[in-house]
Amino acid sequence: MEHHRRNVVSQLWYRPANDVGSSVSARVNRSGQRFGRLLILGRSASDRTGKQWWLCKCDCGSEKWISANNMSQGRIRSCGCLKREVSPNLVHGHSIGPSTEYMTWATMVARCSNPGRRDYKYYGGRGISVCDRWRQSFPNFLADMGLKPNPLLSIDRINNDGNYEPGNCRWTTRSQQSSNQRKRGTA
Ligand SMILES: [Zn+2]
Repeated sequence: MEHHRRNVVSQLWYRPANDVGSSVSARVNRSGQRFGRLLILGRSASDRTGKQWWLCKCDCGSEKWISANNMSQGRIRSCGCLKREVSPNLVHGHSIGPSTEYMTWATMVARCSNPGRRDYKYYGGRGISVCDRWRQSFPNFLADMGLKPNPLLSIDRINNDGNYEPGNCRWTTRSQQSSNQRKRGTA
């Protein structure tokens, strides 16, 4: 992936976004324009074949070169994160398994609501619940929590006796989480 990106970039040439070449009408200044989650940054480039590329910043934080053609026709609306969230099981029509955020959400709901689980006693069994807004909707959960900055992170309740709800949760590493629980245990 990184290798491919470097190849693409090395074939590009840059010009300032406000330098709209009069000879190439397709080279419109679109910096600042938004397509879904993508914000066009102030640079455009064309490759050797004359194909136009825009450097875009996605709302999730990643930057990516996107083909101008694909973007203006509405085929691409995020760096790829949108597709991952909307249909966690489907990427390009192939099942690759749910996203890590979806797995966290599903596990969180299950351990608060399924008495058949071994860990239920530490969650639902001692009164911890998931707020209605999150329990009823994975997109709501994702909108409040955002993507994991790192897929290895898990969800932590800031107040260990509080519920899973906005304001009481954060993405954290497992070691942070357990030291947090130890501190509370001794307090
Ligand atoms: Zn994104």
